[in-house]
Amino acid sequence: MSDAYDLVVIGGGPAGYVAAIRAAQLGMKTAVVEGRGALGGTCLNVGCIPSKAMLQSSHHYEMADKEFAHHGIDVSGLKVNLKTMLARKDKVVEGLTGGIEMLMKKNKVDYIKGWGKIDAVGKVSVKPLEGKAKAQVLDTANILIATGSEVTPLPGVEIDEKQIVSSTGALALPKVPKTMAVIGAGVIGLELGSVWRRLGSEVTVVEFLDVALPGMDGEVSKHAQRILTKQGLTFKMKTKVTGAKAGKDGVTLTMEPRDAKDSGGKAETLKVDVVLVAIGRRPFTEGLGLKEVGVEVGDRGFIPVDADYQTNVEGIYAIGDVIGGAMLAHKAEDEGVVCAEIMAGQTGHIDYGAIPGIVYTHPEIAAVGKTEEQLKEAGIAYNKGKFPFTANSRARCNDDTDGFVKILADATTDKVLGCHIIGPQAGDLIQEVVNVMEFEGSAEDIARICHGHPGLPESVKEAALGVAGRAIHI
Ligand SMILES: Cc1cc2nc3c(=O)[nH]c(=O)nc-3n(C[C@H](O)[C@H](O)[C@H](O)COP(=O)(O)OP(=O)(O)OC[C@H]3O[C@@H](n4cnc5c(N)ncnc54)[C@H](O)[C@@H]3O)c2cc1C
Repeated sequence: MSDAYDLVVIGGGPAGYVAAIRAAQLGMKTAVVEGRGALGGTCLNVGCIPSKAMLQSSHHYEMADKEFAHHGIDVSGLKVNLKTMLARKDKVVEGLTGGIEMLMKKNKVDYIKGWGKIDAVGKVSVKPLEGKAKAQVLDTANILIATGSEVTPLPGVEIDEKQIVSSTGALALPKVPKTMAVIGAGVIGLELGSVWRRLGSEVTVVEFLDVALPGMDGEVSKHAQRILTKQGLTFKMKTKVTGAKAGKDGVTLTMEPRDAKDSGGKAETLKVDVVLVAIGRRPFTEGLGLKEVGVEVGDRGFIPVDADYQTNVEGIYAIGDVIGGAMLAHKAEDEGVVCAEIMAGQTGHIDYGAIPGIVYTHPEIAAVGKTEEQLKEAGIAYNKGKFPFTANSRARCNDDTDGFVKILADATTDKVLGCHIIGPQAGDLIQEVVNVMEFEGSAEDIARICHGHPGLPESVKEAALGVAGRAIHI
């Protein structure tokens, strides 16, 4: 069978399905090819959504277990029903992925189930998911690669998704492990480590570097590690995992001090029920036929693109995790919109300096723009305003006062250069600063905007006032 499309998108994750919708809105005849059997990609199926569902459920449990009594609410007989918790998570995923399918129909995008391969410029073949049906060949003016990413493996630690799991397995453990080791103190490791710690696991986080959440503002990542330690996570920093052996009675992890040669530190083992490998994600391009069609692939497997998201081959574009940069769903979605608009002859633009990054632990951690370390390294003079949630009336009412808001502004122009928040609803609070940064606003702009009282956003205003040394409530 042969079809003539304006655009065939390979991959139905946040990058691909959003690009398909926008292209259809702009009048392009569009198809999206997805091989996992459901739309929504990593994000909806095994990433953002199931992890946030589990974070919310486990947070409720922790609140009921540890905080309710303080509010005068006595609870007895509290216990976790993991089966129900996992089923609720699956229902959320099902509802949302089904919703994307409806959106495809609404926008008249053809959803083609199967694995796509680029046979040539303007030709995509699709291997059906089941049966022995012949591959379908799609003719198209443009091809968009949105095939996303996969878990980065760790040599010597073989993932079986039962005892040694990736984030995917960690979102579906059938029982709460007594003990768990998380390899990697990045966003995914800390979020999923928090889930299982809250539900009763003894969790040890093993990290190669000397900081948790590498790349985040130093003051924030230190604070985060301190709070998470207080909550019960154990951190083993500057430690290299050299292997893992799964057996009947658990997994034996072997580790050595990262600087063993210099420090003379000895190798050691850690026996746990479950190991979560969370050292990062890598681009996924397997089976796409990139080499044959001449699409260049960079050193670490990411696909290089120009300012219009076009690869080195005319008519073949790429967006989302597969091109690198911040591997985040909202960055992928924005690229989907902009790329479709560019293909339709419009101009599009993303301000990569104003993409927020959020860690959904409790408290949440959120960041946008430059860190203090980056500003110092670049020799940019800045002023800093910092406001603790202990001085925010709403945080006090909520009994949720860990953390602070920090705003960094140019010393000469007062333009906001970065904001770093650790505290309640940091992921929502950061959006105000993202908006101001998009409009190239100043700290004074935020400080002069009326903020509702009593509200957590007042902390953002106070941090902005603090940039000029005139915070009111501290
Ligand atoms: C546990 C976890 C938690 C996360 N939490 C967050 C979060 O809170 N916020 C956030 O912003 N980001 C989060 N992320 C990252 C986010 O999921 C990704 O950045 C996002 O999904 C990238 O979108 P994408 O469309 O580029 O790729 P993907 O979502 O990976 O989608 C690519 C799709 O392409 C399909 N595909 C690949 N090759 C082919 C082929 N040849 N033919 C057909 N289909 C193909 C795949 O099956 C996949 O469905 C999380 C990730 C994980 C793993």
